[in-house]
Amino acid sequence: MEILVQKVADSAKKSPIADESQLAFGRQFTDHMFVMDYDAGRNWHSARIVPYGPFSMDPAALVFHYAQEIFEGLKAFRRPDGSIALFRPKDNITRFNHSAERLCMPQVDEAFFFDALKKLVRMEADWVPKSIGTSLYIRPTMIANEAVLGVKPSAKYLCYIILSPVGAYYKGGFKPVSIWISDKYVRAAPGGTGEAKTGGNYAASLYASVEAAKAGCDQVLWLDAIQRKYVEEVGSMNMLFVYDGKVVTSPLDGTILDGITRRSILALVKEMGIEVEERALSVGEVMDGAENGRLQEAFGTGTACVVSPVGQFTYGERTVTLGNGRMGELTAKLYDTLTGIQYGRLPDHHGWVEIL
Ligand SMILES: *Cc1c(COP(=O)(O)O)cnc(C)c1O
Repeated sequence: MEILVQKVADSAKKSPIADESQLAFGRQFTDHMFVMDYDAGRNWHSARIVPYGPFSMDPAALVFHYAQEIFEGLKAFRRPDGSIALFRPKDNITRFNHSAERLCMPQVDEAFFFDALKKLVRMEADWVPKSIGTSLYIRPTMIANEAVLGVKPSAKYLCYIILSPVGAYYKGGFKPVSIWISDKYVRAAPGGTGEAKTGGNYAASLYASVEAAKAGCDQVLWLDAIQRKYVEEVGSMNMLFVYDGKVVTSPLDGTILDGITRRSILALVKEMGIEVEERALSVGEVMDGAENGRLQEAFGTGTACVVSPVGQFTYGERTVTLGNGRMGELTAKLYDTLTGIQYGRLPDHHGWVEIL
């Protein structure tokens, strides 16, 4: 399929990022976006790169009512030689298709979609910021846009990619987060959509995060839906622990999002000669472990932050702190190694990096 390109008029061009230190997350978007349409019987068609702007949609479109939607998140990094790198982009596209399948949405052709993504990022190369820790965030999205109120898989879809220059996540240095452990609300249940990157999971998580904020905590840690005993994820990140000198994280059992950062960090941990245990860690092990020293470090992983160190857990009336509120040694080493590979300060032995 050919990609039609309609460039924004010079007079309508936004100016890319005057002051990179002022960049936030996902508030500013580039000049162009990629869009394509799907109609049952016609497959994907009308692939195009067009000026960034609003869609005109029927108020009855299925996505507005029943949340048939999926998305992805990945980044483009500016390297010291000026080139631009993507990190494991094909893994994101494969996961996009997994999410699509779970939500009864059509598959995209992975090679075509990857080409479209690269073409768009190349066109917007000036928008990839240059200062340390900054990047261009890439958000592929698919929504159901058949105008009908019956509950069923849509016969029409819109798939698009938008780009947003984002600031360094750790501007003022690493700030370990405080975690509120929820045993009242759950993120995902066995057989549900926890494994898919779909908006509904996020909508359903907001109530608990508001409650966490009221309790003075930054993020929610989710327990398993059946026993409310085993740790699953934190906010929208995977959760890893350094416990008895090993790195422990929940197995991918259908309720956990298969994070690409998680995957990469686990590979690096094994190469460092540290044992990885993919097993259910109980909330008791976390709370007691923080007190008796068996739990040495804890951190979330995700594309936006890479790693997010945890400094404190609150579970019911009990609060425990970890590492005197400082980032753990292994957490810091993993952050430096992974960002080193992404930004080209360290060699990429894994074939994770794709230079544009
Ligand atoms: C996206 C996401 C992650 C992190 O995945 P990455 O590929 O590492 O960015 C973890 N948990 C949830 C629920 C997510 O949506």
